[in-house]
Amino acid sequence: VAERSKNVLILMSDTGGGHRASAEAIRDAFRIEFGDEYRIYVKDVWKEYTGWPLNDMERSYKFMVKHVQLWKVAFHSTSPRWIHSSYLAAIASYYAKEVEAGLMEYKPDIIISVHPLMQHIPLSVLKWKGLQKKVIFVTVITDLNTCHPTWFHPRVNRCYCPSKEVAKRALYDGLEESQIQVFGLPIRPSFARAVLSKDDLRKELELDPDLPAVLLMGGGEGMGPVKKTAMVLGESLYDNDQGKPIGQLIIICGRNKALASTLESLEWKIPVKVRGFETQMEKWMGACECIITKAGPGTIAEALIRGLPIVLNDYIPGQEKGNVPYVVDNGAGVFTRSPKETARIVSEWFSTKTDELKRMSENALKLAQPEAVFDIVKDIHELACQRGPLANIPYDSTSSLTNVI
Ligand code: UDP
Repeated sequence: VAERSKNVLILMSDTGGGHRASAEAIRDAFRIEFGDEYRIYVKDVWKEYTGWPLNDMERSYKFMVKHVQLWKVAFHSTSPRWIHSSYLAAIASYYAKEVEAGLMEYKPDIIISVHPLMQHIPLSVLKWKGLQKKVIFVTVITDLNTCHPTWFHPRVNRCYCPSKEVAKRALYDGLEESQIQVFGLPIRPSFARAVLSKDDLRKELELDPDLPAVLLMGGGEGMGPVKKTAMVLGESLYDNDQGKPIGQLIIICGRNKALASTLESLEWKIPVKVRGFETQMEKWMGACECIITKAGPGTIAEALIRGLPIVLNDYIPGQEKGNVPYVVDNGAGVFTRSPKETARIVSEWFSTKTDELKRMSENALKLAQPEAVFDIVKDIHELACQRGPLANIPYDSTSSLTNVI
């Protein structure tokens, strides 16, 4: 038994919903597996301790992904290592003291990064402080395929890749085989551990007990062609000949309040539920037959665990592009940008093509990796045991850095 809990600092940023979801998944899995052996801090150190541009990533990211071309240029032009590493090194030296204070305040024994821009600077701080041999640093990648090279840093103790494709990229980018582990994307334990009956969930969530249900969403920010798709679905899931609906629609708008209020003001021929940011996604997914979403890695991995066939209707250029073939080539879903096509596919799944829906659901379950988050924390625990005694970082708020970089 350790004399005190080990401190784990998880570095994330609220760019999209996925990084926070992964960070919280890891925190919860640590608690379930190891109780109070570890104290977990989930922090956006940049936002709390630094200045522009690091403290503004959330806003810049939202702005850029709304103006897709801008994000495309940013993603691809910063891909070569010489560009991003010199840029990050410059920022690192500028904010060195603040970042150092931000990291050291938590006296971390283990640092886990779940963000593509949180390798270089913290690792530089550890190097300056001579703490590389004491503090374990691992990266948990949260993109399924075409991830940005800033995820890969040669000095990490482990790099957890969610898929073989990402592991290949890590090797190509110079990481050693011994640094890489492939367990899957970390998803909140509530997804893996929940035993849920569809009937009970529908009662709890006040849904129609019998009509097949489709869940429509667009990541944490409610992005993609959600409104148009909802309106076309509202028509196509209504059987005009029989004068009754053939399905019901649940729309989760995330933090997009404007979208939620627009959708709430519309009239529908079929049962429709419009929701804002939901914290129990496993329940909403568990109550549905299939899902329509942009190609967010978190949403995809969760849908696979619930065995939901996926209609991908959009992706963020760069990091989400590769998620499309991941789903489609594995037979767990389809891709179309057209709301009409989406509505046609879903109404067929609910009427003439129920066998296709079933087959895709089975394929989804085959791809699912609900245990990934537990495999990751157990592996980190092993690293910690091998490392032996605690890092015992002396924290001295007056200490300053000399000769940085
Ligand atoms: N999410 C949620 N509640 C909502 C909407 C989304 O908890 O109302 C979660 C969703 O379950 C997933 C994450 O936010 O875990 C979205 O991550 P993803 O990678 O799909 O997309 P991002 O929002 O990061 O672009």
